[in-house]
Order: sequence, then C-alpha cells, then structure tokens
Amino acid sequence: MAHEDARTLRIGSMLGDGIGHEIVPAAMRVVDAAVGAETSLRVEWVELPLGREAIDSHGTPIPDSTLDELAALDSWILGPHDSASYPEPFRSQLTPGGVVRKKFDLFANIRPARAYPDVRAMSPEMDLVIVRENTEGFYADRNMFLGSGEFMPTPDVALAVGVFTRTACERIAREAFTLARGRRKHVTIVHKTNVLSMTTGLFRDACRTVAVDFPDVTVDEEHIDALAAHLVRRSADFDVIVAENMFGDILSDLAGELSGSLGMAPSLNSSETRAMAQAAHGSAPDIAGKNRANPTALFLSSAMLLDWLGDHSGDNRLRRAAKRIRHAVEGSLGSGVATADLGGRASTSEFTETVVARTLRV
Ligand code: ATP
Repeated sequence: MAHEDARTLRIGSMLGDGIGHEIVPAAMRVVDAAVGAETSLRVEWVELPLGREAIDSHGTPIPDSTLDELAALDSWILGPHDSASYPEPFRSQLTPGGVVRKKFDLFANIRPARAYPDVRAMSPEMDLVIVRENTEGFYADRNMFLGSGEFMPTPDVALAVGVFTRTACERIAREAFTLARGRRKHVTIVHKTNVLSMTTGLFRDACRTVAVDFPDVTVDEEHIDALAAHLVRRSADFDVIVAENMFGDILSDLAGELSGSLGMAPSLNSSETRAMAQAAHGSAPDIAGKNRANPTALFLSSAMLLDWLGDHSGDNRLRRAAKRIRHAVEGSLGSGVATADLGGRASTSEFTETVVARTLRV
C-alpha cells in the first residue's frame, strides 16, 4: 500500500527550559527507536529555539523563525518552559507555548491520567481523560485577539476577562464525545454555574447541545469544586471529563498526581490539522540538570502524537510505533525501573535506555 512506502516524518523539537533539556532529547531517542523499528519509517528532527536560550540567541523566547519553521513540519514536540523566570518584558507576555497554541489554533488539549499496576498511586483505579479547551475561557493571557484579557486600572485593582464562545465550547465538546465513543462512553461536563452562570453556563449548554448527537454516550455534570473532591474519593467513576481552559489545567495536575506522579501525565495539543506533544507538567526547576526528571509524560505524549499522525494519515506503522512506546514504558515500570518521583532509583538517562531497549521487543 502507498502509505507503507518509505517515509520520513519531519518533526520539530523545542527543548524549552529546565528539565526540557533532559526529557525532550530522551523522548527523541525513544521515538527514533520505536519508529525505526517499523519498516521504512524514520524521523528527521528539526530542532528549533524556544525558551530562555532563545531570548539569549534571538532576543525573544519564541522567535518568528521558529513559528515559520513549525508551519512547514508534520508535527512538533514541545518541552516545558519556565516563563515566570524570564526577564521583563517577556515574563508578562503570552508564554511561548501559548503563542504556539494560539497561532496554530490548537484548540484541544487531551490529557489522559491513568494509574499503572507497578506504580504506587493515591488513586490506583484511575483511568480517565481530561479534554481541556485550549483557546479561551479563564486563561486571560490568551483569550483576546490582541493584548491580554488581564489588566490593572490602578496599582491596587486587577481585572481578568473570561471568554466563552459557543463555537469553541461546541468544538471541544465534540472532541470529548468522539473520544468517549472509543472508551467507556461516559462524559462529565465541568462547570460552576451556581456562581458563573453565564460563562460556565454557556460552556455547559454547548456541551449539552453536542451530547444530543451522541445518544450512545452517558452524560453527567459536576461543579468544578465537587469534581475535585470526587476525583480524590472515587476517580474510577470518571471516563472523559470536558472542561474549560483553566479548570482543565488544574484538574489535570490533580489527576496526574493522583494517578502516580505529574511526571507520568502526558498531553497532546491539537487542531483538525496539527498536533503537538507536550507533557502536562512544567519545567520543574527544582530538579533541572540533575538527571532526575521522569521523562514518561513526554514519552507517552509522543506516543499520542504518533497515534494522531497515524489516525490522520492511515499509516498503521505510526500506530504500531506508538504502541511500542506505551508497551516499553509499561514493561520498564513493570520490571521495577523507575525514577525518583515514583520512589525508584533510576536516573532520567537510565530509565530512557531501558525504554529504548524495550521498544524493540514488541
Ligand atoms: P508550571 O507553572 O509550568 O506548571 P510548576 O513549577 O507549577 O510549573 P512543575 O514544574 O510541573 O510545576 O513542578 C511541580 C512539581 O512536580 C515540582 O516539585 C517538580 O519537581 C515535580 N515534577 C514536575 N515534572 C516532573 C517530572 N517530569 N519528573 C519528576 N518530577 C516532576
């Protein structure tokens, strides 16, 4: 078949800051191994500056040249960035990841959280996906066409504008319901309509509208605060959770940690035509440069990226490569190799080499 022909994927890689310098190269090694194990498939990496190093080399954390190059590539892997540590004026600007998400309209942020049998977890039964709206909502730094939705009329008054549009709410709801169809067919809509009745009310109503097209999917609704408590108490009851931008961000950190560690929490940012792998966690400056970071989240994010590319191109080799990564991660954890955040003793590079070796075993 044509799509089994020799193929080179061109993937952009952006190290970002902090542990990005360790986990992005680790993820590239794992992707190379998994993809290389499939016939006639390879990756050409295009490394692009983003983050603190780009400030030094290009005078901005997200150079125009990086954005131009991204447009020409098949997909991208983004390391975490520590924008809070940038000097002004960059600290107050939209974060580099926010710029990429906004420019390419990566409206869906898919964040799975699942526990593994061999990883200690506060919620060992967790297996859910948070579908986070990525372009508007309460994240005021990115919900305006120009400028920020956060402003200070006086030094002692700060305001933030939340933005909810029916179009954006419906399209993220459609992602969530479509995803649920391939899982346990259950969607939970998150809102806070008792106090934010218009904004989160519009979100809830748009989700309800979309739900009508998915009669085979069970729907329920929860207030954000109640959901946080229920995630701790009974996470097995949740399958797909659809949430606005900030609710989704906070809930996914909670879910990631409950399922084992933030270092295990993957994510994919996508539009209809583009996808970017990015771990759900941040740049972890406290452990950066120590070879201690858990690279699993970015490995699993990369597997999500390969699955997405496989689904969009019909090339099963990509789906098989994704499966290789997931099995290799599970096998490594199952054999007792784990990083410090999971109570193990493996360094980032030791864990990576174990996973690389196992990608060939599937
Ligand atoms: P951000 O605002 O970008 O989310 P943050 O500082 O709030 O950044 P993280 O950088 O995700 O959050 O770090 C939160 C905690 O989780 C830190 O103690 C960090 O060391 C830990 N952590 C995050 N990612 C990993 C990882 N991959 N491996 C091990 N520990 C991690």
